[in-house]
Amino acid sequence: MNNAAAIKTPYLQIDALWKAFGDFLALKDISLAIEEGEFVCFLGPSGCGKTTLLRAIAGLDLQTQGSVHQDGKDVSNLPPSERDFGIVFQSYALFPNLSIEKNIAFGLENTGRSKAEINHRVAELLDLVGLPDQGRKYPAQLSGGQQQRIALARAIATNPGLLLLDEPLSALDAKVRVHLRHEIKELQRKLGVTTVMVTHDQEEALSMADRIVVMNHGVIEQVGTPTEVYREPQTLFVADFIGEMNQIPSSIGETGRLRIGEKHFACHAHDFRDGEDVVAAIRPEDVIPRGAGHTPEEGNENGLEVLLNEMEFLGSFWRCRLQSAQFGDNELIADFSINAVRRLALEEGKTIAIELPEGRLMAFERAGD
Ligand code: ATP
Repeated sequence: MNNAAAIKTPYLQIDALWKAFGDFLALKDISLAIEEGEFVCFLGPSGCGKTTLLRAIAGLDLQTQGSVHQDGKDVSNLPPSERDFGIVFQSYALFPNLSIEKNIAFGLENTGRSKAEINHRVAELLDLVGLPDQGRKYPAQLSGGQQQRIALARAIATNPGLLLLDEPLSALDAKVRVHLRHEIKELQRKLGVTTVMVTHDQEEALSMADRIVVMNHGVIEQVGTPTEVYREPQTLFVADFIGEMNQIPSSIGETGRLRIGEKHFACHAHDFRDGEDVVAAIRPEDVIPRGAGHTPEEGNENGLEVLLNEMEFLGSFWRCRLQSAQFGDNELIADFSINAVRRLALEEGKTIAIELPEGRLMAFERAGD
């Protein structure tokens, strides 16, 4: 095999894609490659352009500029009917006057299959989504979660190369949602179908996606695995949007260290000038408690004494609000495990030592800089 043959083209390739609605730019220069079999989530706040991008991939709303290639073919200007995808929307969008079987069979008709083949495929799909006995019912006789499974069965009926999911779980109640996200992920793995899902729910994206595309104001902020976007956010927006993040105004010390108040901390802040104003950031679960009567260790420049101002019991951990002269008016939120609180006898009102570990302390540009 020569080298050119060994380089695999992505299954879905989006290049320099723009979308304008009048004067408003909903998508700005989006480029993205998705591999065959990947489960990718578009994640971002309302209005960031997730759905617009999904609709451009489907051909439901054509881009203003840029291209979309699917399986090596330029589909940029093809109508939806000539593209190879199945789609599930937030509202179940089943035909209310057709039985479940007929709903699923809808896309299979006019595909040259015999009646027996269609019946067999419908039964197979009902089995696959765990509703083998519901075919004769009508949509209104099923729960929201069941209807969404049927919508999924209908979307994959013709074995499309691409499955598009537009907030498929957001109309369901919390428990059903968690259950169904697990089922969808299992099904996707089993079928190996390349899948793009739009969601504004970070937990959904973190738990389901192979890779997450974090969007904001029509641009991609970061693309990465769930662990990458959570543990190594590239921008303050990503850091803040996914999970919780303490943010303390600070600056880069003359030695390239982070200066919070009057104290210097070791941190991985490389791309800044000495003295530059930045935002110091650390996740609540990354703050390490050292206990009362425990002065910050000699030589550990990331140790600090703080006042345990408030403790809130949240079941599996304690959420603590920490005060220090170095933080000014900002409180540092720290999540301490039940074991740590017990072992170190942490109590409200105590002064304790904590550590902001070097590898978990981050620095970001200040917004507007
Ligand atoms: P949500 O989670 O709320 O659905 P989203 O990230 O999917 O948000 P989009 O639906 O892609 O956002 O919309 C992106 C921006 O484009 C929004 O500001 C929206 O108001 C605008 N927009 C979308 N469709 C149209 C349209 N047909 N005409 C004008 N503006 C539109």
